[in-house]
Amino acid sequence: MKAKLQVQRLSADVLIIGGGTAGCYAALTLSRQSGLSVLVAEKADIRRSGCLAAGVNAINAYIVPGRTPQDYVDYAENDANGIVRRDLLLTAAQRFNAVTADMEQLGLVILKNADGSYAARGNRNIKINGENFKPLLAQAVRSAKNVQVLNHVNITDLLVQKNRVYGAVGFSVWDDVAYDIRAGAVLVATGGAAGLYRPNNPGFSRHKMWYPPFNTGAGYAMGIRAGAEMTSFEMRFIALRCKDTIAPTGTIAQGVRAKQVNARGEVYEDRYGLTTSERLYGTVQENRQGRGPCYLHTSGITPAQGEDLLKAYLNMAPSQTLKWLESGQTPGRADVEIEGTEPYIVGGHTASGYWVNTQRETTVHGLYAAGDVAGGCPQKYVTGALAEGELAAQDILKQFQAAADFPELDAQVQQVLAGYEAIRSAPLPLYSTEELEEAMQKVMDEYAGGISTGYRFHEERLRLADEKIVELEQLATHAAADDARELLTVYELKDRLTVCRVLIAHLRARKETRWHSFNENLDYPQTDEQYCKYVNSRLQNGRLQVFLRELVKEASYEHTD
Ligand SMILES: Cc1cc2nc3c(=O)[nH]c(=O)nc-3n(C[C@H](O)[C@H](O)[C@H](O)COP(=O)(O)OP(=O)(O)OC[C@H]3O[C@@H](n4cnc5c(N)ncnc54)[C@H](O)[C@@H]3O)c2cc1C
Repeated sequence: MKAKLQVQRLSADVLIIGGGTAGCYAALTLSRQSGLSVLVAEKADIRRSGCLAAGVNAINAYIVPGRTPQDYVDYAENDANGIVRRDLLLTAAQRFNAVTADMEQLGLVILKNADGSYAARGNRNIKINGENFKPLLAQAVRSAKNVQVLNHVNITDLLVQKNRVYGAVGFSVWDDVAYDIRAGAVLVATGGAAGLYRPNNPGFSRHKMWYPPFNTGAGYAMGIRAGAEMTSFEMRFIALRCKDTIAPTGTIAQGVRAKQVNARGEVYEDRYGLTTSERLYGTVQENRQGRGPCYLHTSGITPAQGEDLLKAYLNMAPSQTLKWLESGQTPGRADVEIEGTEPYIVGGHTASGYWVNTQRETTVHGLYAAGDVAGGCPQKYVTGALAEGELAAQDILKQFQAAADFPELDAQVQQVLAGYEAIRSAPLPLYSTEELEEAMQKVMDEYAGGISTGYRFHEERLRLADEKIVELEQLATHAAADDARELLTVYELKDRLTVCRVLIAHLRARKETRWHSFNENLDYPQTDEQYCKYVNSRLQNGRLQVFLRELVKEASYEHTD
């Protein structure tokens, strides 16, 4: 019989769950602007965790000379066909340039023109050497006063009583240690959710996906279980990427103005529209109608442009540069094949995530959300995550209340710990965690609009998807773990299943097709202005309530109900 997990009780003024872009910058802000103690709990190691570890070569959200933050809001609102929070976009956009300047101070290399101005890429981007972005941020956090970093700790549950947060519970992914962490305020910054749908690549390489496979939707799941309101899960994000390497296409499309062409060499992008989802949809349609594969038309670019692309990808997605060099089919010689990824839930690209007020507080008092886990503010990318980390930190300082302690919290902790022990002592189940994960991805792919259906679904398929995910949730209650690593995979599966259920409920609730491919509902193929609203949800008394909210038009939004 296994010894029980050793339990460590820790406390801090502020607990930050997830030491990625937003979490690290929030910790830095709190350290610079207060004497509060901060604890960052990170499931990996903050030096190389999260999206920034997956590669970044531009600041995608920047206000270039001649443009204003308001222009950015208009652009993102148009791209999301109206379903955004303008207050969130504006407050983020107003900070894009300041957080960029701060990162430059910390050592980030930003490419410059001969006159010293930043080298722009298109209307909203500037070019950087992104390789050191995360190590620089992590270094600043590690030398910040009053900040303690707890690497390799996976947080599973929030401690919430009467709709106020008091801390969280998690476990070491290396040792047999559980953590009971109490705090006055908590920031969730765990990124988005990858691995819900079956990806393009089979077998062992199925974890090779665009969004980091380690961001499993844990932050959404713990918030859902704690009764926090979520928004816009049905605005899925599906990336258009270079085939097989999953390298971003924007660097080519914007860098050398390459057009999307089909197998006949016809430019098709203008036929479907130029928003993010329409660019993907056009590619899906061309393939479905037998005119694929589709490409970015790069052949014929100058040798200098080709060289620039090789360098840009070496910095961000080296497999693309290696593929070009190994095959000899460099971008000047051959067009670059493109395809869509599996769908993700990512609040930094689309609007899925926690429903927050303008200061980034969620509907649970004292609980904040920033970066990809926070909803309503699409196209915020890396600077938006930094900006939201800062905004949340500053409101935490304003509203701060010291941690409280009462017996109900201990009971809640005991319940979570009992859950860990049940998995650790469970007999070998019929199906392994990995098999259940594959089954979940298959269900989502076939019934909830994955790659194999051209991202399309209809009511009956969604009903079946929900039914099958519930069955898998049942099977997952028998999951077993021999060590800390396996315990982590069990929780990753459970969190993903929770996110899948909420996602399916949101897809069912939006009875229209507002964003082609992102929510392609075959029963409701048109946009319906009645649905120019947010689809939100909240778990109440064990039942998921899904409801529509009117668009927020005001410059500032507070939770009132
Ligand atoms: C491949 C890729 C390329 C990109 N390129 C660009 C670009 O060129 N320019 C740009 O502007 N933007 C880019 N982005 C977007 C940008 O990087 C992200 O929007 C931003 O970094 C997200 O920050 P975040 O803090 O929300 O999430 P992350 O930085 O991903 O941080 C989440 C952290 O939470 C941790 N975590 C997760 N679950 C738990 C848990 N249960 N307990 C404890 N810790 C947990 C994770 O390990 C991770 O460290 C890119 C994104 C990707 C995926």
